[in-house]
This record gives sequence, C-alpha cells and structure tokens, in this order.
Amino acid sequence: RLRPARTPGRGHRAAGTEKRAPAAPAPPPARHLFSDPAEVEALRRNLLAWYDRCKRDLPWRTLAATEPDADRRGYAVWVSEIMLQQTQVATVIDYYIRWMQKWPTLQALAQASLEEVNELWAGLGYYSRGKRLQEAARKVVSELAGRMPRTAEDLQKLLPGVGRYTAGAIASISYGQATGVVDGNVIRVLCRLRCVGADSSSPAVIDWLWDMANVLVDRSRPGDFNQALMELGATVCVPKSPLCGECPVKQHCQAWRRVEKDLAFASQKLFGKAAPVPDVEDCGLGDCPLCPPATEPWDSSLGVTNFPRKAAKKPPRAMRTATCVLERRGCHQAPEYFIVQRPSSGLLAGLWEFPSVPLAQDLQEEKEREELADHLQAWTGRPVAAKGLQFIGEVIHIFSHIHQTYVVYSLHLDGDVTLDPALSPSRWVTEDEFRASAVSTAMKKVWGADPHLSVSGSVSVPLRQKVLYMWSINQGTQGKGEIPPFLGHGPTLLDSALSILLPCWVGSGLIWSHPLVPAHLGHARDGISMVLAPGLDWRRWGAEGGGLQHCTTAAGPCRAAQLSTVPGYCPPRSRALPGGQ
Ligand code: SF4
Repeated sequence: RLRPARTPGRGHRAAGTEKRAPAAPAPPPARHLFSDPAEVEALRRNLLAWYDRCKRDLPWRTLAATEPDADRRGYAVWVSEIMLQQTQVATVIDYYIRWMQKWPTLQALAQASLEEVNELWAGLGYYSRGKRLQEAARKVVSELAGRMPRTAEDLQKLLPGVGRYTAGAIASISYGQATGVVDGNVIRVLCRLRCVGADSSSPAVIDWLWDMANVLVDRSRPGDFNQALMELGATVCVPKSPLCGECPVKQHCQAWRRVEKDLAFASQKLFGKAAPVPDVEDCGLGDCPLCPPATEPWDSSLGVTNFPRKAAKKPPRAMRTATCVLERRGCHQAPEYFIVQRPSSGLLAGLWEFPSVPLAQDLQEEKEREELADHLQAWTGRPVAAKGLQFIGEVIHIFSHIHQTYVVYSLHLDGDVTLDPALSPSRWVTEDEFRASAVSTAMKKVWGADPHLSVSGSVSVPLRQKVLYMWSINQGTQGKGEIPPFLGHGPTLLDSALSILLPCWVGSGLIWSHPLVPAHLGHARDGISMVLAPGLDWRRWGAEGGGLQHCTTAAGPCRAAQLSTVPGYCPPRSRALPGGQ
C-alpha cells in the first residue's frame, strides 16, 4: 500500500477484540517525491515557459482560451477530451472542427439523432464515446438546465461517461480548478521524473501518480499546466527516443540524472579512474513499492525508457466473422448494397455493416459458407445457396482487444427482396450512401476487398493482389488528389506496369511508403499500400518518352511498352511489359 491505512470507525469492533493496527507503512523515499516546494515552483515555471513558447496550435485550445460563455467553453473542452481518448491529435482535428460546426452547443448536440452522431464519428473508433457524449449532453440540457458542472467532482458525479481524467481536464482547462490530471502521457512523464518503475497500470501506482499530479499542478494556471504536462509527453518525453536534450524539466528528472551518472561512470572507467560508487539510485527500501521489481533491474541500454513499466498486455482475442456484400440493381440499374444495423450496445454499437455472422475458429470453408448462407436467408427471406456465394478474400482489422478476421463473400440478387421489419433495421444503399453512412473503418476495409466495387469510380482492384498505387508528388500534383492515368486500366495492366516500375523506382531511391498519403487521398481505402515517388511528374514522364504513354491510353491495350529513362529519376532500363501488352 502506498497510502496510510484508514483509521477504523468507532465501535467497529467490541472492546478487547480489536486487533492491533499494523504499523504505518514507511513513506516512500525522497527519490519518488516532490517534497521540496522550491523544486515544485521551479518545475512549474520551466514547464509553463516552455509551453508558452512551444505549444501546438489546436482548435480546442483556441476555443478554451477565447470562448466567453462558460458552458460553451466547458462543452468545447469536453468534446475534445472525449475525442482524444485513444486517438491521435492529428486524426482528431478534422473531426473536432466538423463536430463543433455542426453542434456548437450542448443544446444542439442534445437535439441530434444517434444516427447523425454515428455518421460524424465514423472512422474515429471506439464508437460508444460519441453515443455517451450525446447522452450526457441530453442530461445536462434536461436535468441541469444546460449548465455544465464546474468542478471535477461534480463533472465526474453528474455526467455519464466522464471519468476522473476527463473531469479533471474540463475543470482545470475550462474553469481554472487547481486539480491535476493523469493520462498516458502524464504517467510516462511522472514515472520518468521520479523513477517510478513499479507496474504503472496497477491501481496503487496510479493513485500515487494522481497524488503527485495534484501536488505539482500550478495553482494560478492549472489548465495550462496540465496541458503542458500532456504536451511534454506527446512531443518531447515520447515513449521511444525521448528528446531529453530539449526537455524543459530535465534538471528535475531522476531518470535523466541516472543516465547522466551512468555516462559519467562509463567515461571514468574508460580512463581507468572509476571509483566504486555507492548505489545512489537505491531507494534504501528493500521492497519499495515504486521501484522496479528486483527481477527487472535498471537496464543501461534503455536509458530513461526504463520507465514506465507495465505488466505484459493480454494478447488480443482472435475472432472470425463471415460477411457478405449483397448487391442488386436499383433504380436505373444502379448497383445498391444491403447494410444492416448492429445492436445498440457492445462493439460498434449502432453502426451499419454488411450482413455478418461470427464463426467458430478453424471452421471448414464449406461450413463457413453454409453458416453465412443461412444468415443471409434470414435477411432476404429466400433460400440462399452456399455455393452461390463468391469468395472475395479475408480482411483483417485490429480492434484494441480483438484481432478480427472478416471472411468476405459477395452475392448478386435478382428481383426484389422484402425486408422483415421484425429484424434489426436494414436498408439498400448506393455507393455514395454507403460512404456517408455510419459504417466502421472495418466495414470500409471489407468494401475495399470486393473487386467489383470501384475506387473513386476509376480503378478496380482486389485487395488480395496487394496492388500498390503510385503517387507522384511534385509541384503540379501535390495535394490535388490525382491518380496517374495509367493506373486506371484495371489490375492486369497495373500489375504488369508495377512489376517493371517498382524495381526501377525503388532502385533509384525515389519510392517509399508514406504514412500521410492516405490522408491526401480522401477516396483511398484503408489497407491499400501507397507508394510515393517524390519529385516525379508522371505527366512529364509520359510526354518525354518515358514509355508509359504507350500503355496508358484509354483506347485499348498497350502497344509498345518500353521503359526508358527519365533523366535524374531512373537508371537506364528497357524492358517490355509481360503478356505482350
Ligand atoms: Fe522525459 Fe527526458 Fe524530460 Fe526526463 S529529461 S522528463 S525522460 S524528456
């Protein structure tokens, strides 16, 4: 235990039967404490000065600093904190801006439908967050007259879905309450500052960190201080390769001090001057509850990343689900797809998906088909032959705790289908409607697995072929979302072209995958590999006789596909496309 044991209440035991209270645990050693007020002051000053200089410009920060209405301000911070749970800042920004434009106040959000909330949330993950946020907004409007609670205690008590961290963040940032916060970034920073090496996910250590955060928080600028601590963890004191040299609080950091001592000792040793030093890092407590366990001592090769430590995570559970893209011809023969709504609780609650059925592991393919066919029969009200299901491929999606494999099939239906109103809500949608619906990222991946479904109406490729899209970045095309036209002729030609181009470009060092590319390509589907060829102008390539103009005309197959050199881009090379194209 890290905290003093509570005194039992009066009359708890009959006189004479009371056991002797255990000796109070020794206070944790100074190494794990911030017990010097002067040091606390200095740390606050250094951290806030750094934050004022280096903080990122984020839309919720602007609102928190400029919104005069206290309820609106609290709401704006609340939305950002919920969105930022388990999600990167870069991903959240766009969602946040759209959300606040659509529902700038609690009252506006309270009037929205869950369907609208899910639609806007689609792609952000952990979908129950949006739902709970809206439920809580309704509660504030209907039961609290639209007034946000002003303290961390009330926020946590009165708002469903608001935990200790979110309550502290809203109260300190929006209302100036001097209360600390502890999230993943803060845990990392504090564990390093005070060499806390015990399991940082254990309740006792978490309690200890909350106490520490409450001691440290700046009394006059609590919101900025909390944000600064989180900002430090997000940008400087990062999990791997922290930037200790640039850290504004390194002089207060025990982990950094330990690294410095290691280095000094190593250099002394190099010159044969090493004197035996007492282990100054030792707590002095044999069983210190905050030090690393004796079985996992300090590892010099890890430096400050010795902290924090966590118990090993449980591996994600493997799940297998059969899903079917059911297609029919709708108005004017336009294709339509059948989607159904998931139950209102549990994983991906209330989102829409292709009809899906969970499978036992290691089921034979024949059995999988039969199970899916039975499931589809219930939806369509007509017999579905298992053999009629066309296997498309497997799509893997990792949820936080589930390793999900979707076994994807497709089926074309003729004639009309009467939907059974007794079943969950279902509907037929066009491609555009599917994209605008509240569907999960996992279902968008499933959509991408079907070769009959187009990408932006121009390229049709099965995911299983692991086709790489080539993307040129240059003055002419950067950020405009164009796909070089030679990619628009289907998988066969594309594969052929790539089989020659890739080794050529890779060899010239012009290609690498880039994590930002999917963000540039609004229409691109998750899971498709992207390749960048920076500096490559594909239009110039074609115009200057790079060879590709011969295999890119929309008029038909290539005639004389020869690759030659574009000066400065590619080593000399000449090779015909395979298959006589
Ligand atoms: Fe983190 Fe390094 Fe700063 Fe310590 S000195 S708080 S380990 S970045």
